[in-house]
Amino acid sequence: MKIRVTAAIQEYIATAQASLERYPTGPYFDTPLVGFASLDDPLFGSYKEIIGDFHLTPRELFAADSGAEPAGGTVICWILPINDPVRRSNRAEREFPSRLWSHTRTHGEALNGELRRHLVSWLAVTGYRALAPQYSPRWQEFADTPKGRASTWSERHAAYAAGLGTFSLNDALITPKGIAHRCGSVITDLVLEPSPRDGRGYADNCLYHRNGSCGACIGRCPVGAISFQGHDKARCGDYVYGTVPAAVSDKYGVKFTGCGLCQTMVPCESGIPGSPHFR
Ligand code: SF4
Ligand code: SF4
Repeated sequence: MKIRVTAAIQEYIATAQASLERYPTGPYFDTPLVGFASLDDPLFGSYKEIIGDFHLTPRELFAADSGAEPAGGTVICWILPINDPVRRSNRAEREFPSRLWSHTRTHGEALNGELRRHLVSWLAVTGYRALAPQYSPRWQEFADTPKGRASTWSERHAAYAAGLGTFSLNDALITPKGIAHRCGSVITDLVLEPSPRDGRGYADNCLYHRNGSCGACIGRCPVGAISFQGHDKARCGDYVYGTVPAAVSDKYGVKFTGCGLCQTMVPCESGIPGSPHFR
């Protein structure tokens, strides 16, 4: 069944983004990576401390959706790796993201949303209950928490639980296909074997966290939001949701622009940097 779920995700992305009518500036993504976490993985409970007590567990989301909790289940997570033409276009930029990067942020994320809905329907037709946390009535985003901008469900933290990558100096997730990606998840009562996390530390894929080297993302940030002390989410958020859209939204013809300068032209852009052991 894991093979069928993975194929359903990969086929949907391949087919949908091949439609030039719907995505004239696509395709945006390479073949998705897919991982699985148990509904009852204790990590989800620990996110209430790590992110904030507003962060919901899969069971809380299920209860809000249908009122009935399943006996068990799975959080299905995916990574949509941003493809080489899009990443290349952003590598050349120093102040604002490229047009193609911004189109990936708006149209590629719309496609990611379609995938969430498609997978929920696909699972329902296959005989399982499912929901997309992003579309739960309990999903909420907060601009200003003690940890900065955060929501009731973190797609990145779910992907970490599903063994798809580890965190980085700039607060992103470095996966086997790199740091430049969009990610998503769906919760279901279909019970599947969880993916291994390989015993890695929470940030082992990042060179700085692994051995104190690198820091390339620091120099890529035009507003100094990254330092060896970490990522200043407020400063980054002001730039990504304020300055950048004000400067290029109209010119590019998209509402959401992203930024991603610190995810391109860096050693972790398209893979796990360093020794083959970490590849
Ligand atoms: S550029 Fe280097 S320090 Fe920054 S996230 Fe990537 S591996 Fe870590
Ligand atoms: S997304 Fe942009 S503003 Fe935010 S940390 Fe990265 S380079 Fe800086």
